[in-house]
Amino acid sequence: MQEMQSRQVVIAGAGVAGLTAALAFAERGYRIKLFEQAQHLEAAGAGIQLSPNATHILRQLGVLGRLLPTAVRPEAVVLKDAATLRQLARVPLGQAAETRWGAPYLVAHRADLQSALMERIAERPEVELVTGACVGSVATGPNGITSTVEVAGTAIETEASLLIGADGVWSSVRETLARKAAEFGRSRFSGELAWRATVAADSPAGQTFAAVGAPDCVSAFLYPGFHMVAYPVSRGTAFNLAAFTRGKRIAEGWSGHADPASLSSAMRGTAPALVRLASEAAPWTAWPIHTVEQRRWTTPQGIALIGDAAHAMTPFAAQGAAMAIEDAATLAGFVAASTADLEGALAAWEQARRPRVAQVARRGAVNRLAWHAAGPVAMARNLFLAMRSPEKLAADLDWLYGWRARESGDRR
Ligand SMILES: Cc1cc2nc3c(=O)[nH]c(=O)nc-3n(C[C@H](O)[C@H](O)[C@H](O)COP(=O)(O)OP(=O)(O)OC[C@H]3O[C@@H](n4cnc5c(N)ncnc54)[C@H](O)[C@@H]3O)c2cc1C
Repeated sequence: MQEMQSRQVVIAGAGVAGLTAALAFAERGYRIKLFEQAQHLEAAGAGIQLSPNATHILRQLGVLGRLLPTAVRPEAVVLKDAATLRQLARVPLGQAAETRWGAPYLVAHRADLQSALMERIAERPEVELVTGACVGSVATGPNGITSTVEVAGTAIETEASLLIGADGVWSSVRETLARKAAEFGRSRFSGELAWRATVAADSPAGQTFAAVGAPDCVSAFLYPGFHMVAYPVSRGTAFNLAAFTRGKRIAEGWSGHADPASLSSAMRGTAPALVRLASEAAPWTAWPIHTVEQRRWTTPQGIALIGDAAHAMTPFAAQGAAMAIEDAATLAGFVAASTADLEGALAAWEQARRPRVAQVARRGAVNRLAWHAAGPVAMARNLFLAMRSPEKLAADLDWLYGWRARESGDRR
């Protein structure tokens, strides 16, 4: 009974983190109960960039092959001045990325990533996915962790030796822990809004973007206090646009509304074609960017927070989901490598992950400063980029995209 219990994992949340964790634990012979509060899985947001550090894990888990037919492999990341549309830098991706970092750099619609993960989950009898199931309170007892889950108005209790809180930036599992221990924190509004729109490639907005951007690349238009990222998704039939501005706190969620005047005002002074693109792409939805910084992600009794629940970061390095994927795969590796010592495995996993996640979050903060810079700082940035060859710009990213979990328990 105890052995069976120790092979049982409960996961709260079936986002990128929870779905990947379910696959990674199933791969190692665990039985997984995966609870998702939504009645139907809906992909939050529209597009997602998946760098090689994430796609190599998706390949190991049998997901990548299912994603490739709908995803796009961009040829490069192209940075442009949003006022003049002049190219500032180009980081080669495409085959160069695959050769350099051993796995493809992809851009995809989030729904396609979710479908690929779900198709693989459907092949794993070890994973039981329950939708419309909200994980509420969590208690520690002699039989491990007891989670109370509300399903169709009825509260059920479920026990496991390991509970994984993969329930996103506004995590209930984290909230439960934060009520008892000060080391667990709460999310904080960053003061930034992400504006999002998806446009068909053959629509007026799609054609405007094709004229100002690089339609087979990830394009980023930089301007003081503002930037816009655009890339193809869904086999290139649509473009995902995401713009970033300062803004007031709005309701939590992907489909929020903010006053579009603040987007227009942030774009004042950018190239007329970019302003036209923003107007043709309307309506935009807005997402308030929240971050999570806390001193702990695990408890000795058997709770681990992963993905945004543990360390939501600003999206300026496009790495939040990649970190969730890395968290999920490495956690399964650490736990499976120390079946007799879960407490030690969780502590070692957290210790190994923290420096990596902190370094990636810092990179996002640097990108934000550089991309939103004005005056002499922007001039210094442009000079720096002009002096760096595409090859050198790619080499600067080796630590990020070339990352691999070590074998033997993934201990790094
Ligand atoms: C504008 C923007 C662009 C981004 N672009 C990129 C990018 O290009 N590349 C990248 O790697 N990252 C990107 N990110 C970050 C990325 O979106 C997140 O880091 C990632 O989605 C986090 O995944 P998660 O599974 O931890 O959380 P989520 O995706 O939020 O999933 C959490 C899940 O838990 C469920 N849930 C919540 N509470 C409960 C509960 N009590 N019980 C049961 N279920 C529950 C939710 O319904 C949800 O399904 C971007 C973020 C933003 C805002």
